[in-house]
Amino acid sequence: MNDKHQPESSKTSKNAEFISNDTLTGLITLHHFLHIAQDTLNSRQEKAEKNDWCFVYFNLIGFRKYNVRHGLEKGDEFLCEVAGVLRGIFPGNPIARWAGDHFLILSKEEDLMERIQKAHEEIFHLGDGRVDNRCGVYAASHDDNVTASAACDYAKIACDSIRNSSDTFVQIYSGEVARQVRMRAYISDNIDAAIENGWIQIYYQPVIRTISGSLCGMEALTRWIDPKYGFLKPSDFISVLEESRQIWKLDSFVIEGICRKLREEMNAGRDVVPISFNLSRRDFDMCDMFHVTDDAVSRYDIPRSLIHVEITESIIISDRERISREINRFRSAGYQVWMDDFGSGYSSLNVLKDYHFDDIKIDMEFLRQFSDVSREIVASTVRMAKNISTHTLAEGVETPEHVDFLRQIGCEKMQGYFFGKPAPYQESMQLCKSKGLLIDRNSWRNYYSQIGMVNTQTDKAITIIDYADDAARNSGKAFTFLFANLACSDLYASLGYSSMKDVEHDVNVSDFMNQYRLLDFMNGFHWGEYPVRPRENYIAVRGHYLSLLVEPIVSMEDHHALLVTIHDVTRDKNIYAMRQMDFVTRSLFMAYDNIITVHYTGDYMEPRQQDIFFRQLPGTRYHDILTQRKKYSGTVIHPCDRERFLAFTDPATILDRIRRAEIRSVIGQFRSLGPDGRYHWKVHNVFSLTDDGEQILLYTIKDSVIASDPVAAEFYRKRYDTDTEKRHPVR
Ligand code: C2E
Ligand code: MG
Ligand code: MG
Repeated sequence: MNDKHQPESSKTSKNAEFISNDTLTGLITLHHFLHIAQDTLNSRQEKAEKNDWCFVYFNLIGFRKYNVRHGLEKGDEFLCEVAGVLRGIFPGNPIARWAGDHFLILSKEEDLMERIQKAHEEIFHLGDGRVDNRCGVYAASHDDNVTASAACDYAKIACDSIRNSSDTFVQIYSGEVARQVRMRAYISDNIDAAIENGWIQIYYQPVIRTISGSLCGMEALTRWIDPKYGFLKPSDFISVLEESRQIWKLDSFVIEGICRKLREEMNAGRDVVPISFNLSRRDFDMCDMFHVTDDAVSRYDIPRSLIHVEITESIIISDRERISREINRFRSAGYQVWMDDFGSGYSSLNVLKDYHFDDIKIDMEFLRQFSDVSREIVASTVRMAKNISTHTLAEGVETPEHVDFLRQIGCEKMQGYFFGKPAPYQESMQLCKSKGLLIDRNSWRNYYSQIGMVNTQTDKAITIIDYADDAARNSGKAFTFLFANLACSDLYASLGYSSMKDVEHDVNVSDFMNQYRLLDFMNGFHWGEYPVRPRENYIAVRGHYLSLLVEPIVSMEDHHALLVTIHDVTRDKNIYAMRQMDFVTRSLFMAYDNIITVHYTGDYMEPRQQDIFFRQLPGTRYHDILTQRKKYSGTVIHPCDRERFLAFTDPATILDRIRRAEIRSVIGQFRSLGPDGRYHWKVHNVFSLTDDGEQILLYTIKDSVIASDPVAAEFYRKRYDTDTEKRHPVR
């Protein structure tokens, strides 16, 4: 031993008769250590020492398993090596082995913490990382009247307090540590009383469906409201109950409580949402958790779809085969099994590979950081989950930015303080109501779940729309816009819409020119088929030609969820598509004698192609609608039809007539003077359009079928040629 570090007392006691060494490691025994330590404490006041004497306690974690795996002989060798490491790092200090795999060191080195760190690392490497270690320190100051034996106990208490901690390996004893230790003992001793006396309460935290903003679930989280220690959070008691193998008592109580609450609510005729609860690894050690759950669920007659089980990755990796069996039992009975805290462990992806979960809850750490990298990880996780048919929930949603981001990337559900902290059931429900959150209806859960599986992360402009067909429309609008991705929001903005809801409003008003066409298009879907085949359509909105690829996602009652991929052909750099559109437009014009737009606000008309009356090129404006109309009537229209024509084109009533018409346009048949100097039957068809808020009429004229049917022509001639004087030759 190095005399510099050797306490005086130990030098004298070397020869005392009780001296004995640990036969295995050669370190001193606990008995000897206590003797030396006590002498040291007694003599320090006399010497007015400045530094504290520290009692350092090391405990090996996982040594028992090492013994089982490698045999006792190897285990002994390992202990000797640990002793060697400690001797090397604390030369000259009293070091003892305290039963099995515990070690004590007495030290007053100033660089004690660095030495402890070194010992921690070296011992860790000795066991190839399979044997870990924790360390507790009690610092006895010169005016501390502690006995050596008590100081050793305190060091051990400090060490035990971090036994299961993954981020600390050394703990210095303090009043708070002592309090914690007492509290842990209290919790372990009082769980039965806590359950019996109602100190344990189940709190519920809302889960929100991103696409609808409705309440779609709750998570049950426990709180222990103790008469002695006050309000305790799960972090205070879950690990104690796990260590003392009593967690099953708590979790059985939670399942019972959830079922009772759901039954109470259903009996009172109130809407309920599914509730998830947390299972712990130790639950499976101590009881048949599936049986406990299913028993409560049947006694209270709760649909299994209302109960979800949350399991963390650490539970699975602890005992893969058994837990896999348990997961399957729950799933095949109809319970959803969710993976909690996804991404918080080391092997989350591996676990996903081997087990199927209905939902993964993305660990809140990713949103807490909210850096570019963590956002990318969350977005990729959501994309990946959808590819393997797993739903997604993000935990720890605290800000509107989190909500916007999760909505954009298509994360289905959200849970966090932004929507509500865990609270007693009624309080949680009340909070949701006060925020105006609707409750997901039972029958609609599948509808929204299917929508939630759509991958929204694409550069294409996609929007998700709920279409209510005839039956449902009587009670509301036809199109409800649920979602637009960033590309689609940009497209809407380029059309002059300020938001998706703006578009929704436009599409649903009856004078939206395309509404008739869209509804007609919707009628072309065969909703009874499975899967319903996607269809494509073109519409013109505010001067842009849009191609719409409409893919039905799911139907519920008379509602159909549609994934619409919109492509602005007008802006398309793909010349081919432009040409196609141009060809269609030109062919369309060929079918008409004329297409004229009538602009009320500017009081002018504009022919879109040349005709016999407007011999000007398209684009020429004719101002003063009333005069032009009279002029046209007097020059082109058959005298017998003029009165009808003027009534038909009456600006005071035409809009109203269009709005009321079932086919959203008005039709009239008039004879017009042709280039051959004869009158020909023409069909005049007028639609209403809005362009950038301006009311426009689209006036089309083309040949009537009457012209090619002599019988019909005679019939109409007789009907309208009342004034023989006005008779003119008609073809
Ligand atoms: P968990 O299952 O991941 O539950 C989510 C935890 O995050 C809850 O903590 C919740 O209060 C908290 N949290 C929710 N939203 C936010 C947020 O926006 N920001 C922040 N900072 N935190 C948020 P809590 O209630 O303290 O529960 C902690 C853990 O204890 C739970 O994590 C769960 O694993 C476990 N636990 C809770 N109750 C029970 C139970 O009855 N049995 C079992 N076995 N474990 C439980
Ligand atoms: Mg949980
Ligand atoms: Mg969690």
